[in-house]
Amino acid sequence: MIRFKRHFLLTCTFLILLTCGPVTAQEPPLKSIHYRLGMTRPTSHLFEVLIEVELPPERINKPLQFQMAKWSPGRYAIFDFAKNVQEFSAFDSRCPPGTPCTRRILRTVTRIDDQTWSVDPGGSTSLTVLYKVFANDLSGTFSQLDERHANYNGGSIFMYVVGHKPDPVKLTIHPPAGWKIVNGRIDQPGQTEWQFPNWDILIDTPTEIAPDWTQESFVVDGKKYHVVVHSFGPEGGKRAALVRDIEKIVRAQVAMWEPPEFTDYTFLIHYAADDHSGDGMEHLTSTQIIEPGALSEPGMYEATLGTVSHEFFHVWNVKRLRPVELGPWDFTRPLNTRALWVAEGFTNYYGHLMLRRAGIWDEKTFLNRQAETIRRIETAQGSQLMSAEESSLSAPFIDDAPHAQLTNLENTSISYYPKGQLIGMVMDLLIRGRTKGKASLDDVMRRMYDEFYLKSPNSSYYLRGRGYQNGGFRAGGGRVGRCGVSRLF
Ligand SMILES: [Zn+2]
Ligand SMILES: [Zn+2]
Repeated sequence: MIRFKRHFLLTCTFLILLTCGPVTAQEPPLKSIHYRLGMTRPTSHLFEVLIEVELPPERINKPLQFQMAKWSPGRYAIFDFAKNVQEFSAFDSRCPPGTPCTRRILRTVTRIDDQTWSVDPGGSTSLTVLYKVFANDLSGTFSQLDERHANYNGGSIFMYVVGHKPDPVKLTIHPPAGWKIVNGRIDQPGQTEWQFPNWDILIDTPTEIAPDWTQESFVVDGKKYHVVVHSFGPEGGKRAALVRDIEKIVRAQVAMWEPPEFTDYTFLIHYAADDHSGDGMEHLTSTQIIEPGALSEPGMYEATLGTVSHEFFHVWNVKRLRPVELGPWDFTRPLNTRALWVAEGFTNYYGHLMLRRAGIWDEKTFLNRQAETIRRIETAQGSQLMSAEESSLSAPFIDDAPHAQLTNLENTSISYYPKGQLIGMVMDLLIRGRTKGKASLDDVMRRMYDEFYLKSPNSSYYLRGRGYQNGGFRAGGGRVGRCGVSRLF
């Protein structure tokens, strides 16, 4: 592995300004917050969510607010998950699913706005809220409960207690008989309970519950990787080879970065021909990948590896080395960050590069894919009108956003994925050329990870380190003038 020489690091790294995370009004922690997830009638597509809250004495006469996020990390369109909430109610006694409740005392519930329910504890130290969420959309952003499985993205089903997102939370899942639970934080076989340091980590743990998923595992540098596959169609005998190729991708990426922090990482992969779109979603210790077809179908195998390579790169770029706006988040309004061309675009570039380094793509395939992206961007009308930063700020409009009104975005916008991919490639080539091959964008990424994630003091409750600011990133790019990178900006 080739690293920057010291003098190069001083002049050719991105200088990013120290910033603080978003400021949220927070109260002293509640005594406990315990989520219970029930799924007693899978064919109804209705998850049953209970939130049991223990209140400190000074908190028993103040209304407590429960809020559904408007969007969830990794996909930046506003989806308003509250639209699928129904039958919200509150009680002052605990009442797990399936338990006969004889002493329920109803508490007053007031719907405050489109995403918020307020509950009056009425002087009680324990409060239970219960609601149902309709979920019939298998994707990295939404959730699905049907006769085949339960698969959820926590942000689309779990409300947070306003002012208490930093509080530790417990989760208990009540699966149907014979269904097994798997996610990226399994410590023991048959696990049904988890303790999370905060709500943000709870929703960072997508979970699959079904009778018939499969799991294969491998070890790279002492870390365990699990490939969980739930197939709704024939696999054509390709699963064993798929796991072997995923291991090659993991090895290529781990070779570039510091060893990852986790002990275990889980690829949750679905093959679902009835799914309306493919998807991949990054998380701290797992990824959700949904392919819209059977593994046996032409192209599905290759598409999976492409998504695996992209999502696994997010272990470092986005999930840990992150723009300042990416955690903790404000889920009452759209995300505004200028840096998705780094977060997603560079990940696109490295997703391709790692397929090459893993030996899955040959040189010609890699170069053809870059050429295809160059052609797309150069011929896109939006390239004349929208910069990479503006594209990032437009994410709530262009990241799979539904539009009721007609828009002109097709002509006026570009995606930060291919645009950022090309900026990453050009920066990489400039650095390689300037240093006669002694350094590359790899060194810049590693140094940023080191500086902002590993060595920086924590800026919030959410996660280690702090986020970088894109303004600083661009200014830093200007300081890289001697490398020729400033001309790029
Ligand atoms: Zn499943
Ligand atoms: Zn991505």
